[in-house]
Amino acid sequence: MEIKVSFGVIEGEQLNNWVFYRINYPRKGQMKKKINFDRFPCDICGSSDAVEVPFARFYTGNQPIHICKECGFVYVRDRRSSLEIANSWSNEIFGKGYTAHIPAVKARQVYVADFIDKNIGLKNKKVSEIGAGEGQFLDIIRKEYGACVFGIEPSGMNCKILSRLKIPYFQGTIEDYGAAHKKNQSDIVALLWTLENCLSCKDMLFGARKILSPNGYVVIATGSRILVPFKKPLGKYLSKNPSDTHSFRFSAQSLRGLLSATGFKVVFENSYIDSDILCIIARKGKMSKKNIWRKDNYLDVVDFFRRWHKESLFYKNTNN
Ligand SMILES: [Zn+2]
Repeated sequence: MEIKVSFGVIEGEQLNNWVFYRINYPRKGQMKKKINFDRFPCDICGSSDAVEVPFARFYTGNQPIHICKECGFVYVRDRRSSLEIANSWSNEIFGKGYTAHIPAVKARQVYVADFIDKNIGLKNKKVSEIGAGEGQFLDIIRKEYGACVFGIEPSGMNCKILSRLKIPYFQGTIEDYGAAHKKNQSDIVALLWTLENCLSCKDMLFGARKILSPNGYVVIATGSRILVPFKKPLGKYLSKNPSDTHSFRFSAQSLRGLLSATGFKVVFENSYIDSDILCIIARKGKMSKKNIWRKDNYLDVVDFFRRWHKESLFYKNTNN
């Protein structure tokens, strides 16, 4: 039996003769600086009853991720302020040289652009992207599909790039933009690999509603990872970055649930079961008091992560 342990043992889980111990040691910088976290209930159903994702701490440097026992949503309970999360993105993640100008990111943006165009059309549509980044997606849909584009982006560095590309933009968050500008103006609001990285996924969709025309569409694209075949080792999915920089991990069901809770009606979905991408297009509808959707069984999600961890052990020598 091989045992992985260092610094001190709290508790362990056993799987096929592998024992993984949760190690409780301070993360870099934590000893000096007190960090304030708020504890959040499930963003979709509001329940606080949750269990930990098995083995997550092994990959995240001891940071827990939870599964809602009521609806199966995978989320991070303890989160810092949106400003601190944004600073983490700017300094710790983007600062390390993240760029969208790599084949994998461009490929997924082209996929999403084509999926939108085939289903609801892009020509002459007013498309706003929340979290426009370096503007690569907006540039693609402007040049290849004839869309009228607009970027909402908090990072000053990225806004300089948008300016160089002559893409009109607003520097700030969706909340700032919604408060400062006239409502109901976009035909399409795009959230590409962004909804999972904010403080409140619900507030972000309410922000999108505010700037959409009455029959406008929201397009959400994210990785298709939960309750689908494993597409990468778990160590390539979970990371030691501050866990609240990626607070939400969607299955197709939980994304439908969130859309339903924020007054959107799903109209198109890609073939997420055999794709790296989960892409859902939903139309803005009326808010209803009752939010009814098919929930994920949390035990299925627990079992899914156990199986994923076990599968990932086969690749443990490939830098994971
Ligand atoms: Zn829930």
